[in-house]
Amino acid sequence: MLLLAGGRIVTPGGVLSPGWIRLAGPVIDAVGPGDAREQPAVDLRGQWVLPGFVDIHVHGGGGASFTEGTIDEARQAAAFHRGHGTTTMLASLVTAPLTELETRAAMLAELADDGTIAGLHLEGPFLSPARRGAQDPRHMIAPDVAVFERLRAAARGHLRVITLAPELPGAAKVIEAATRAGVTVAVGHTDATAEVTMAAIDAGARHATHLFNGMRPPHHREPGAVGALLDRDEVTCEVIADGVHLHDIAIRLAARAAGPGRLVLVSDAMAAAGMPDGRYQLGSMRVTVAGGVARLLEDPADPGHTGDPGQTGDPGQTGDPGRVDTAAQVGAIAGSTATLADVVRHAIAAGLPVPDAAAAASTNPARVLGRADRTGALRPGLAADLVVCDDDFRPSAVMRQGEWLAGHP
Ligand SMILES: [Zn+2]
Repeated sequence: MLLLAGGRIVTPGGVLSPGWIRLAGPVIDAVGPGDAREQPAVDLRGQWVLPGFVDIHVHGGGGASFTEGTIDEARQAAAFHRGHGTTTMLASLVTAPLTELETRAAMLAELADDGTIAGLHLEGPFLSPARRGAQDPRHMIAPDVAVFERLRAAARGHLRVITLAPELPGAAKVIEAATRAGVTVAVGHTDATAEVTMAAIDAGARHATHLFNGMRPPHHREPGAVGALLDRDEVTCEVIADGVHLHDIAIRLAARAAGPGRLVLVSDAMAAAGMPDGRYQLGSMRVTVAGGVARLLEDPADPGHTGDPGQTGDPGQTGDPGRVDTAAQVGAIAGSTATLADVVRHAIAAGLPVPDAAAAASTNPARVLGRADRTGALRPGLAADLVVCDDDFRPSAVMRQGEWLAGHP
């Protein structure tokens, strides 16, 4: 037994301040308010204790990536995020040639086998070039059940989430096949209208990939995917609340509309998270990071055409509906350089109550993964996955399944 006391413990029922938490090996044994009567206890000195973060949209970090490189580099990316409080994560792949997606899915399935990651998220290849953001339009294809089954087979049961654009021909069949297979369908990188999005939800879609980003901007007579996804209670909505991808007002509006039970905070981090400014890779796309903001450097179909990364591109702003265009969006924001801890800190600074931020960073994404019975909240019986944070919500210690990973209170 390990007793942590004198902290601000963020539980599903509210903040216990002071409160204590008792751990029995890899699981939480008990949580309670006030001072711990038993001794010895580790004194948390008023620090916050949040449930370990669950990031269901992350491509890399610490200079390494899930989207390219070796299995050891993928392990490195996972270890980087774990050290910053993300005790559970999916590995997110971006659009790429099918054979490459199959190879990478098979490789990452090994990391899921050994528990390094909780599974895979396929962000592509069934996406709309009109809302491609920083993804490679050359490899975007129409939804196809046979292709979906090939990718699912490569992931050997570890495919958890697939992002697709529901307006593309064949989408309804893939949504139904994925839903039957227990894979969560997320709507994203889409130019869909509200009506088309509603039909996709009727067919089984249950999640929004980075709401607002990579979607047509909502209009009061055509609220688009953003409006439909927020409107439907069965849909969880991701936001990249990093201070770059969304205005704080958009974060607050999404949080209020979705409510504390449906909001999901994600990092959408790429290899540059935790690294200095410079040149990085996101799948096949070259990215430049300046001032912590990652942007697409060039069009792979037209390598001579590099853009001023400061000038153009905001996923959700560019892209002409219906236009067939395979040029990359030079200057588009290309993932984030944030950890989920950074996102939680920013969301709280933007006005999210701490328990709501914890629900959005841990409890709700754990539910999306079907793991709410194992992790995602500080309550007895769940895994001893937790993050100790200082007053500014900077992690000072991380515990995963009862073991300290980084720091020690
Ligand atoms: Zn992404």
